[in-house]
Amino acid sequence: MSRNARNPAVHVIDPMADPAPLPEITVDHFRENGCTVTCVVIDPADAQQTLYGTVTRPDGTLAGTYYPADRVRGEHWRIVAADGTHYHAASEFDAVEWLSTTTPGGGPDTGTVECGGCSRPLTITRQQWERDASAPCPCGSGADLTFHRRHAEWGENL
Ligand SMILES: [Zn+2]
Repeated sequence: MSRNARNPAVHVIDPMADPAPLPEITVDHFRENGCTVTCVVIDPADAQQTLYGTVTRPDGTLAGTYYPADRVRGEHWRIVAADGTHYHAASEFDAVEWLSTTTPGGGPDTGTVECGGCSRPLTITRQQWERDASAPCPCGSGADLTFHRRHAEWGENL
């Protein structure tokens, strides 16, 4: 219990006010593909180098983090996905692009299509989307998946 009883020794700082021997560090925010990218950048006045970045999806979940394994040259980018899987990325841009566009398992598990008869939203699985010609609706009609597939990709607003 003693380990948990202690409060973590963490407090808000102004990184610019750190003592002289430390390099300047700033935190940058930008948006990419609807995701929020937060990166910790070292020495912004001279050679800007990313220490690491995090990518958060629109729903607030963590997509993952990325960092340069060779920090001196800012090369050899690595990604650590939210599930802990380690990836290599060709560049910082590739890391951000991948994290902001890749969803676990290749996309959401379910999607919604509109019934052609009563316009009610129907929940379908990815397997249905890829395999079936139509999704049945309790009204007796259904959604024409062949038609929907022609007009949208899985994961878009169907
Ligand atoms: Zn219906």
